[in-house]
Amino acid sequence: METPLPLLRSALLAQFPNVRLAQSTLQGEETSAPFGFNLGYNLGDDDGRVTANIARFAERLDLNPEDLAFMNQVHGATIREVSEPGVYDDTDAMITTQAGIGLTVRTADCVPVMLYAPGEHLIAAVHAGWRGTAEHIVQKTAEMVLGKYNVEPASLYAYVGAAAASCCYEVGDEVAALFPEGWVIREDGKAPHLDLKGLNVHQLEEAGLPIENIDVDEHCSIHERTLLHSYRRDGERSGRMLTTIVLREEF
Ligand SMILES: [Zn+2]
Repeated sequence: METPLPLLRSALLAQFPNVRLAQSTLQGEETSAPFGFNLGYNLGDDDGRVTANIARFAERLDLNPEDLAFMNQVHGATIREVSEPGVYDDTDAMITTQAGIGLTVRTADCVPVMLYAPGEHLIAAVHAGWRGTAEHIVQKTAEMVLGKYNVEPASLYAYVGAAAASCCYEVGDEVAALFPEGWVIREDGKAPHLDLKGLNVHQLEEAGLPIENIDVDEHCSIHERTLLHSYRRDGERSGRMLTTIVLREEF
């Protein structure tokens, strides 16, 4: 019998038979204090358990762990077109048209953004923290998909995953100054709050996607302490979540 493994899904992308998507949470059978259901290495958790957890997560997407493509994310704006699984250094966005490769983003507050073009059988995965967002990595990835792969904006769909939300995501004035005022929430006596998910939705709209093509997960990693990992909340005691998208063979 399969043990429970709570995952976040996209209702919008679930309507398409040729793509699968899931985001892990901190909940799962194989957890270890203080890390919970953790899918990140080198955090002080047992790496063997992390490997087993990644395998369980992959299995829920009908994948083996060796089918996953990971990025050594550096909060930059490098976009790679990939055709095989593995680990890609210095990368914060990947695009593929190959079925069976699970494009994966690892987060604990940053925004995972997944793109899907059903007509061209194409997916992309983007890691967008505040630095990547300031560099417009989501917009650049969407524009590359639209331009280079000849996708119509109305035929491109997006999932903006669970991440730090504007209710809790405090930033310093120097970070707030990097972003348009419409996505910075200011209240007297409080540090500015940043709407990182909203900024990435805006970037997708700037690239041309209609708003109805953008599915935004409303969960906040910082205050939903029983559901999501948060580095901002837990610091060195925080685990990591994976968000993975994969194309199925066309049928
Ligand atoms: Zn919150």
